[in-house]
Amino acid sequence: MSALAKFRRISRSLRFRLTLGYALFLCALLIGVGAVYRAKLAASLNVQIRDGIEQEWAAIKGYLRIQNDRPIWFYDTDDPDESFIVDRLKRVYMLADASRKVREISEIYQSLGVDSPAEIAAAIRSPQPIWRVRGNAQGAQFLIRSGAIYDEKNEKKYFVAIGRGLADNHHILEQFTWTYIGVIPLIILTGCLLGWYLAARALTPVLEVAQAAQRISGSNLSLRIPTRGAADELDYLIETFNRMIERLENSFSQIRQFSTDVSHELRTPITAIRGQLEVALFTASSIEQYREAMLNALQDIERLSQIVRALLLLSQAESGQLALQKAQTNLSSLVADVVDQFQIPYEETRVRLTADVAPECTIEVDRIQIERMISNLLSNALKFTPPGGNVRVTLRRNPQGVELTIEDSGCGIPQDHLPHIFNRFYRVPGGDSGPERGLGLGLSFVAWIVKAHGGLVRVQSTPGKGTCFTVSLPARDAAMGISETPGIPVASGMNEL
Ligand code: ADP
Repeated sequence: MSALAKFRRISRSLRFRLTLGYALFLCALLIGVGAVYRAKLAASLNVQIRDGIEQEWAAIKGYLRIQNDRPIWFYDTDDPDESFIVDRLKRVYMLADASRKVREISEIYQSLGVDSPAEIAAAIRSPQPIWRVRGNAQGAQFLIRSGAIYDEKNEKKYFVAIGRGLADNHHILEQFTWTYIGVIPLIILTGCLLGWYLAARALTPVLEVAQAAQRISGSNLSLRIPTRGAADELDYLIETFNRMIERLENSFSQIRQFSTDVSHELRTPITAIRGQLEVALFTASSIEQYREAMLNALQDIERLSQIVRALLLLSQAESGQLALQKAQTNLSSLVADVVDQFQIPYEETRVRLTADVAPECTIEVDRIQIERMISNLLSNALKFTPPGGNVRVTLRRNPQGVELTIEDSGCGIPQDHLPHIFNRFYRVPGGDSGPERGLGLGLSFVAWIVKAHGGLVRVQSTPGKGTCFTVSLPARDAAMGISETPGIPVASGMNEL
């Protein structure tokens, strides 16, 4: 990988982006804090220098006397402290009388330029001191305080200005600025390294999850990513991921089971057809024997076509290609019609089929599919009820919609098989056999049709006593969903159907 490609890959990584974001934030924060701190420092230096000048102004009143318009400094020249103070006062200093005439001025003040007569007059008049920043030709700046001093003896006002250089303050501020600017990259670099390390630590579990996910394939879906016990967002992600794998595993095993079932179901008639044709080819000697072999083969071919047709229909239904053609349908007459179709004289089957149908139960359904559903349930009930038994169909209206019950006094279904009867190709062992043997797809259709109508199907069964299927269909299109009713076994896997 070239260096550029490597950089591109790193720059797109979450770790890099996290660190960059962190560094930018730190940078902005440091600049903001620095600017605020510098402004505060400048303000406090300004206050300090003003306080100093105010003290000097107070001192000047003690040391300066004006006699005949001439300034006279009263202090003990032998006292080094007083000499120092007066020298300092006179460093940046100017005295002018009310006629704007300069009476005394220091060298430094001279370099700043003498105040204009208007400024002198304004300062003498003003009850408040006047503060100004003034600079000399070399660029040095000074803070100047000007105001009036009153000579009570002569009842005269004089203009006095004193000041201090701002160079020290500027120097302190400059030093702070450069030191801070010098320190910022160091802090940011340390922050970046720390951020890079912390981001790596935070993202390590994510990489571990990704690696674990990579190991999971169609053949080892039983693998799970271990949670870290931190109960954090990542553990939540791992748990969600594991649940997804579990669902995938279930779907995969259902698909595998389905393929096994289909091949098994198709193999049986194909083997039978093959056997019958071989027997006819090698052993049949008369037309009758050929005929019989052909008939048997045709029967098996018919069964094969049935399986293929049913599977096709079921897959269309489940993939949503089989759209429901819903219309307002009188279920009462539909149920009565289907029951009539299944009515066989009692003497023939010795099973009594009765119907108790409430009148005018009209709801919006797909007539063909609902007819298929009733037929499937009814044919099962009749098939699994031995002679002397009863099958009863009931249709009732309820506040939510309608309820259809198909109850038989047949062989019943053992409890441990109940959860599976809606699965494709599932037949309770020892049930029907021979040419009457079903495909094990009827109830899969029932489950899909009920679900597609937003209804609910429940089954209750007692081996040796009978079975009762209850289908609830909502009157409105508001889906009821297929849910479990406590205490009533409902076929598992319906939601997957
Ligand atoms: P089949 O075409 O085999 O009837 P179904 O999907 O309709 O397939 O039914 C699945 C299995 O459920 C049946 O093979 C049977 O064992 C059991 N079953 C369904 N309905 C009844 C019933 N009314 N009484 C007893 N067993 C039943």
